[in-house]
Amino acid sequence: MNIVLLGPPGAGKGTLAGNLKDDYSLSHISTGDILRAEMKKESALGLEAKSFVESGGLVPDELVTRLIEAKCQEDNGATKGFMFDGFPRTVTQATDLDVVLEKMGQAIDVAIYMEASADIVVQRLTGRRVCRQCGALYHVVNKPSKVEGVCDECSGELYQRADDNEETIKNRMSVYVENTKPIIDFYKSQGKLKQVNADNGAQDVCEKTNQILNG
Ligand code: AMP
Repeated sequence: MNIVLLGPPGAGKGTLAGNLKDDYSLSHISTGDILRAEMKKESALGLEAKSFVESGGLVPDELVTRLIEAKCQEDNGATKGFMFDGFPRTVTQATDLDVVLEKMGQAIDVAIYMEASADIVVQRLTGRRVCRQCGALYHVVNKPSKVEGVCDECSGELYQRADDNEETIKNRMSVYVENTKPIIDFYKSQGKLKQVNADNGAQDVCEKTNQILNG
């Protein structure tokens, strides 16, 4: 089964993917995580992507699709499918993804649209903390770590993403409305779109998504 998670920044796509991937044996593919790893390594690709990521703009489609194709080929067969998080973000990427999957004899089965209110996503993003070591996600109010600044899972250091500040969040939201919302129609017209209210807590969103996937 191949799944696309759609929704604004802060809808909880990473959290949901983390909660579901093992149960369905899916490879979790987050373009944001891949880009941040490339930036940390200071690879040519990471350096090319840096200014886009830091300003909250979109990295060019061609570069992101290349990354996705390489990652899909690497993970193909190791799991029962892919769970895409943060990709596609433009209609071009959505059509590119279909081509990438078609080459492997696969297709997207379902697109989960996580609808969330603007004030809730801003609150989630400004309070989000991430483990530098294992990538586990926390929130200073909604899901604090047991010891401030330290990951419960691996004792790694928790940090705030550079693009989780109010100014960049505003830009990411307008980029989302302009480029990513049309993808909802793309999957709707194919009868693949399912909607979940992502204003609710992570557990509720996970239960609702399980009902969709098992229904
Ligand atoms: P995320 O971790 O999904 O919030 O992504 C963080 C940032 O990485 C975004 O604000 C973009 O700058 C970049 N990015 C992630 N995924 C994509 C994508 N599919 N297309 C273009 N840029 C992306």
